[in-house]
Parts: sequence; C-alpha cells; structure tokens
Amino acid sequence: MFTKILIANRGEIACRVIKTARQMGILTVAVYSDADAESLHVNMADEAVYIGPSPSKESYLLGDKVIEAAIRTGAQAIHPGYGFLSENAEFCRACSDNNITFIGPPIPAIEAMGSKSAAKSIMEAADVPLVPGYHGDDQNPAIIKKAADEMGYPVLLKATAGGGGKGMRQVWSEDEFDEALAAAKRESLSSFGDDTMLVEKYLTQPRHVEIQVFCDNHGNAVYLFERDCSVQRRHQKVIEEAPAPGMTDELRSKMGESAIQSAQAIGYQGAGTVEFLLDVDGSFYFMEMNTRLQVEHPVTEMISGQDLVEWQLRVAAGEDLPLSQEQLKINGHAFEARIYAEDPNNDFLPATGTLNFLQPPIESENVRVDTGVRQGDDVSVFYDPMIAKLIVWDENRDKALQRLAKSLMEYRIKGVTTNIDFLYNLATAKPFVEADLDTGFIEKHHDLIFHKEETLLNDELPIAALYLVLAQKAQAQSKANNSKDPSSPWHQNNAWRLNEANLHRFEIEHNDVIYPVSVEEKRSGNSAYFMISINGKTLDCQGRIDGEQLFANIDGYRFNATIGENDNHYSLFRQSGVFHFSKVSPDLGQADDEANAGGLTAPMNGTMVSLLADVNEHVEKDQPLLIMEAMKMEHTIRAPSAGMVKEFYFTAGDMVDGGAELVDFVASTDEGA
Ligand code: ADP
Repeated sequence: MFTKILIANRGEIACRVIKTARQMGILTVAVYSDADAESLHVNMADEAVYIGPSPSKESYLLGDKVIEAAIRTGAQAIHPGYGFLSENAEFCRACSDNNITFIGPPIPAIEAMGSKSAAKSIMEAADVPLVPGYHGDDQNPAIIKKAADEMGYPVLLKATAGGGGKGMRQVWSEDEFDEALAAAKRESLSSFGDDTMLVEKYLTQPRHVEIQVFCDNHGNAVYLFERDCSVQRRHQKVIEEAPAPGMTDELRSKMGESAIQSAQAIGYQGAGTVEFLLDVDGSFYFMEMNTRLQVEHPVTEMISGQDLVEWQLRVAAGEDLPLSQEQLKINGHAFEARIYAEDPNNDFLPATGTLNFLQPPIESENVRVDTGVRQGDDVSVFYDPMIAKLIVWDENRDKALQRLAKSLMEYRIKGVTTNIDFLYNLATAKPFVEADLDTGFIEKHHDLIFHKEETLLNDELPIAALYLVLAQKAQAQSKANNSKDPSSPWHQNNAWRLNEANLHRFEIEHNDVIYPVSVEEKRSGNSAYFMISINGKTLDCQGRIDGEQLFANIDGYRFNATIGENDNHYSLFRQSGVFHFSKVSPDLGQADDEANAGGLTAPMNGTMVSLLADVNEHVEKDQPLLIMEAMKMEHTIRAPSAGMVKEFYFTAGDMVDGGAELVDFVASTDEGA
C-alpha cells in the first residue's frame, strides 16, 4: 500500500479522500490555489503545496504543477477526485512517465470513453444495448438526417465530444432537423472545439439509472448495484438515490452484468460508472461510462457498507477487490441531495458570498454530510458552487426520505442563497414520495415544486401568525415561571387582562411584503383560542408548540408543522414545502414589554451557543452580544443601549436556566464609572 498520496482536487472530494487515507494510515498531500490557501482540505491534509492563482486553468488543471508537487513531497500516487484532471488521459500518461500511480483506470480506458460515438461503437461490439441511433464517422448532414427520419421523431442530437448537457438538442419533427443540427454543431464547436454529432432516439420518459462497477488488475469485476439519478435540472443531477425504486432482482443483475461487460470491453480497472437510460418498458440502453469516482458515490457506500475510496486505493496498489459479487448485499435505502449556492428562482444561477452562518444537521449513522467548507468560508466565483452533499440512510425508501426532509429542514445557511428550500420542496413533492421518477421530473412538476404563491398565502400566513402568538405566550410564561414571584399579575399572560381588550397587533414579512396581523385572545372554559385576522380573513385558531413542532387547529382543520428560527427569521416546513417569514414589529402590549424587558436574561431554558462581544469593549445599541439556543431555536441577545459587557456569566456550551442573568452589561453613561 502507498504511504503517501497526493489529492489533485479541492473541496468536499479532497476532504473525502483524505478521510479514508487517514483511516488507512496513508499520509496525504493537498494542492491549493490562492483562493484555497485557508481552506478545509488544506487544513486536513498532512502537507499542502501551492500550485497557482485561483482560476482552475492556472492551478488545478495544470497537470505539470500537480506532478511537480507529487515529486517534491514524495507522493507515490495521485487521486484525481472528480472533474479537473480526473478524465484527462494526458495527465494520466504524465503520471506514469514520472513513476507515479494514477488512482484511476488505465490510459486506454479513459481514451476509449472520451468520445461518445467511439464509446458507442465499442459497446456495440461488446453486445451492450444502445439507444437506437447513428454514430458513424460520415458527418454528411443528409446522412444524419436520414438516420433520424428512419428511426422516427423525437430524436436527440449529441456532440460526440460533449459533456454536461452541452451540444445536445431535442428534435421533435423532420422540419426542425436542419436548424437544430446547425445549432448543436455551433454549440459543440464553441464548447469542445469539435462539431462531430451523433443522433439517437429521444426517449420521452426515461429514468437515468447508473451502475457502479469496480475492476481490479487481476481480472475480477463486480457491480455495486445501481443509483437512480433521474431528478435532473438542465441534465444535471440534483437528488440521487440507491437502490433505484421499483428495481427487480432480475433487471438489476441484467444491468449489472451489462455494466461489467462495458467495463471489460475497455480493459477497465478501478471505480467506474456505467450510465444507462431505463425506459418505461424496462429496456435499458448504454449512455456513457464515467471513468472516475462519481459525486454521488456515497449513496452506494451507504447501502453497501463499503468505502469506495478505500477500494480505489487498494485496487490502485495492485490488491484484489475486497469482496466478490456474492459477498455484496444491499442494505436499506440512501439519498443524496446536493446543496448548492445557487438561486433556483432565478434559473439556478450560481451564487457567491461568505457562509456567515453554517449549521448542517448533526451527523449520525443515518446522516452524513460531505463538505469542504466551514462557517466563515467563501463560496467563490472560481469553482463549482456546491457547498455540501447531504446523504441519508434508513432501512427503506419512505424512512430514508423522511430523514432527508428532516435533515434539509435542519440545514441552516446564511450569507449565500442556496437551493435547500428547493430540495425540501422536491423531496416532499407527492410524485417524488411516490417514486414516480423520470428525467423530466422537475419540468413536469414545476408548479408543485416552486409552489404557487396564492395557496401559500391562504394556508401558511395564518399558521405563521398563530405560531408567533403561541411562541410569544410561551416566552412570557417561561419568564413568569422563572421569576421570583410567578404569581405576580405582571406575569399573567392570559385572561387576566381581558378587561382590557386583549388585542395584539404585529406584522409578518414574507417575500418583502408586509402583512398586518391582529389577534384577539379569547377563552372558552379552560382553554384559550385566538381570532386571527390576516390577509382579509379572520380565523378561529388554537394550538401548542412542542420543541420545533407546532400542533395547530385553524377553523377546525388540524395539522402539525415544523418551525425553525434563526434570529427572528422563521421557516415553516410542511409537506407542501417550506415558507419563510419574519416578525416585523413586536406587539407593544404590556405582556410583551415585560417579556422583552431585561433582554439580558435567558428567554427560556437552553444552551449558550456563542459569545459575540468582547469583554470591556464598547458595543453599539442592538449589537449582538451572544446567541442562545432554546427549544432548538436560536435567540440573539442584543445590547439594550450603547455600552460594554463587563462579564459574561456563561460560556459556549453551558446549560442556562430560563430567566437567568446572562451578562453584566454597563450602559454608556455608566461606562466610565
Ligand atoms: P452529458 O455527457 O452531456 O452529460 P449524457 O449523454 O450523459 O450527456 O446525457 C445526459 C442526460 O440527458 C441523461 O442523464 C438523460 O437525462 C438525457 N438523455 C441522454 N440521452 C437521452 C435520450 N436518448 N433520450 C432521452 N434523454 C436522454
């Protein structure tokens, strides 16, 4: 086995490889650009070598620099991760010229899969099923068109050098053909410097099902089952899962055998993925083979219990495959959701910025977060804007999907726009829950996933209002319970004040629109209920909060929902999706004055999260002093006026009783004293 390897990559995949190498007792060398000088992968590695400016063309794509770094540090092998140099035959050759092991397939295998049409010819010869089509050398447009006419429309034009969905065009009828071919050729030429085209039958409702294969250098080959990656936007994967829903043992072994045949047809070694289109009738067709570890490999790891990076290292070091086909078993179900800095409401435009607040769900044997960033890091313009991969596992699809939704709820990121809400809405959409998948899923269910505004306002606004009322009452109650005189009428927050009209007013903000709310508290026997007026309706509401759960009854309709809070910004999670709101102006009734006064005490039992001000340093009014977590929600305690903190009575991690004094704060006028 190697004693030291270099990882020619960055971000989450570099961190992922380092983790396994460390477990195996292998030293790691990272490479980094200017933008990554302080990044997590550099921090995690045993050594790191600077390879150039931030743009990847001037650093991570420079094979020579990477090899120089390996020679300098004595690394015996290079793991390329995915992207960058991972499918670059020239780089692979340079490694071999320098006696460095490339942790990946042999050069001819990479070359064979470099062109889609050459790959198809090889697969055809190896009896692997192909989508009907034409992938010949004769590029005469009339010949390509004739093939299209013969197989019938719709057809799909593909650039043979293509990737990432570029140079692809659907053609729905004969008269659209010439124009589409010309456009696809132009796009391909500008993206890949090559305009060779192939044409194939366009399947209208296929699923993308891919098989993970592994081959060693001793003739052994296995498949580690399938992944369903049908949910795509612009032909890019969004949520992947394993195993594929509805897969039968028979089809699985047929596809698995076919994938092994594909790999063996090109003398494959190491980890590879054979991508198939699976048609509604159960026929499947070879699409392409990716000669590297895939982004979505963790779902396979979760259901097989295997570490694919460890397998890669063992195979590259010349060992046998760790297990045989008979020893491999599927256990449970896994999902991966790709958390991106991007704006789904603006055509998934990549976003950049600083991750001011980053709180992933807590990891466990069911929840795994693969990431390359920490709180405070930047998502820069230079690289792929993926923040993390959220992977969940459970014994069956339903349970795993519930975990996915829950973990997405718990994922809190501030500072950059992310696709987390979109993923949540996707994961909870009925057709997804029912596994009614195909590659057109997002387009087909667009309205459901990006839900329509009117239904939201009707349903979610009153829920949001009820929640705020209940939360405020709970806070007042907790404060009363913790005070020295709980029976003081000041702390009564119910009908005691009914001789005054017990009317609360506040405002809710949603998508930059302000909605005034008025709430009248009433009693019937022992129980309280609220008449909530919002958005032109008055509703009879009742409910209670338990942790992050809201149990509500609105005009006789009972349901529960989950609410997350971060510094007065709330997220309401329901099966229909997520709804964000904030409370604008606090109610100025007496009970609230009481609740908000002495804001330097703990609002309820909780945990100290972080101290934000320095002792004996001047702070401005409203500057955050500390963050507490109570009822799984964060509360920021702010300076009541300009002044300074003389002492914090707790440190991060301490348990704090509700009502406890948190800081010794001196207002400005007294500061000199
Ligand atoms: P790229 O290399 O550009 O990613 P692929 O050949 O891998 O292109 O195809 C990407 C996606 O395009 C597939 O996952 C699938 O959703 C869709 N696709 C490809 N070929 C077909 C086809 N013949 N019919 C329908 N959809 C297809």
